[in-house]
Amino acid sequence: MKIPKPHAVLLASPGMGHIIPVLELAKRFVSQHEFQVTVFVVATDASTVESHLRNSPEYTTNLFNVVSLSSVDISALVDTDSSLTEKIVVMMHESLPALRSAISAMKPRPTAMIVDFFGTEAMMTVADEFGMLKYMFMPSNAWLLATMIYGPAIDEIGLDEHANKKLPLKIPGCTAVRFEDTLEPFLDVKCPMFQGFLGAGMAISTADGYLVNTWEDLEPKTLASLRDAKLLGRVAKAPVYPIGPLARPVGPLVQRSQMLDWLDTKPSESVIYVSFGSGGSLSGKQMIELAWGLELSQQSFVWVVRPPLENDVSESYLTAGDDSDDHGVHEYLPDGFLTRTHSVGLVVPMWAPQAEILAHPSVGGFLSHCGWNSTLESIVNGVPMIGWPLFAEQKMNATMLTEEIGVAVRSKASSSDEIVGREEIKMMIRRIMVDKEGHEMRIRVKDVKCSAEKALNNKGGSSYNSLSQVVEECQIRLQGLIANARGS
Ligand code: UDP
Repeated sequence: MKIPKPHAVLLASPGMGHIIPVLELAKRFVSQHEFQVTVFVVATDASTVESHLRNSPEYTTNLFNVVSLSSVDISALVDTDSSLTEKIVVMMHESLPALRSAISAMKPRPTAMIVDFFGTEAMMTVADEFGMLKYMFMPSNAWLLATMIYGPAIDEIGLDEHANKKLPLKIPGCTAVRFEDTLEPFLDVKCPMFQGFLGAGMAISTADGYLVNTWEDLEPKTLASLRDAKLLGRVAKAPVYPIGPLARPVGPLVQRSQMLDWLDTKPSESVIYVSFGSGGSLSGKQMIELAWGLELSQQSFVWVVRPPLENDVSESYLTAGDDSDDHGVHEYLPDGFLTRTHSVGLVVPMWAPQAEILAHPSVGGFLSHCGWNSTLESIVNGVPMIGWPLFAEQKMNATMLTEEIGVAVRSKASSSDEIVGREEIKMMIRRIMVDKEGHEMRIRVKDVKCSAEKALNNKGGSSYNSLSQVVEECQIRLQGLIANARGS
């Protein structure tokens, strides 16, 4: 008799940085474990997501269904100046009825729901209603997962020391989070975002397990702490499954970008790629300094440029990927910059095929905002980084890359409001592209790349085994459901 396949429902919150790793996870379930998968995407603009999916051949082979939960209009529910987090939380909440009705129409009922960390409400309501196994997927690293899990267990003294006295947040068994690197909720513990952060920490404690986009050898200490029953206040009781790196692979693009032809003409590891993720941007003044820094470094570059943002560097996050015109980016660059750098630099408005660029042999450095997907894409391609964090957990990521893993350099500026000058930018670029320091980092990052490959190996790799355990749990649940149905 044919044994039915477990059906997993994956829920991705808005933002390409959340959607891309969820799609990658879906692909693994289907291609390596023969699951049936439906991915629900909550997006401001579904056509943006679809246009990206169209350009990624691996997503259009009908491996799994991608369902866009209809665009949610939250304009009446949040202020225009609300934080990015608040907007995403409201969008996720508003999409619950559509998710519920889509799942109730599925026959037989899916076995498991896997949500990213903005989907905890769906996990606690919809997944429970339909008796599904529920997993929280952290598209970032184990250190952020530990911080979230530990959040509700922080006592008043710990909170006061961190949020008010600006001392490091000591997370049992993990690297402490310096105040300069802290997460936005800790900047104002009276604001709703902090309560939301604690609420999410409590909510995830109801999960049957945590999938995290990291691997054993990258974060051994943090993973050990997450598993130690005596640590972290044990708010979380479920197993942790490091299943990464889930990084977007390079496939034959439907349309090969001209920029890849341009890269073909450059020597090996000679080009620095500059990008601030799917929606990050700099202030106008900072952009000018960056342009000068690039020019002064005398290195070849590809720079993805977005219009400057003065107050909120994450403002364009929810509309990321809209590359319909050049948004007049040249207006924000120093006079004559494009002409002077014509032979060495490419300025790309709004969006570039990042995975393909980082995989190109001519690329030898990445000036990055340290979003976790960008970080992993750099590591799996053996490319050292300049860490330039902007928001969310990016400062923690930059600290991890520079101080623990040793594959990045970072500015001396202590806050993101401080302008990093052109000379310092030039020096950072030269440190990773030209100096001995960069050469040593390149060797290190290639070692890390090898450890990632080992983890993913389908013959005993730690991440492969971890995902196999989740698969087994789903299969057991499915068999139980089938046996019950037969018995009743
Ligand atoms: N990305 C891309 N082209 C761009 C900017 C971003 O393909 O011009 C992709 C990038 O490869 C990564 C994701 O968008 O997979 C960004 O995720 P990340 O976690 O690095 O940052 P976020 O956008 O969430 O801040």
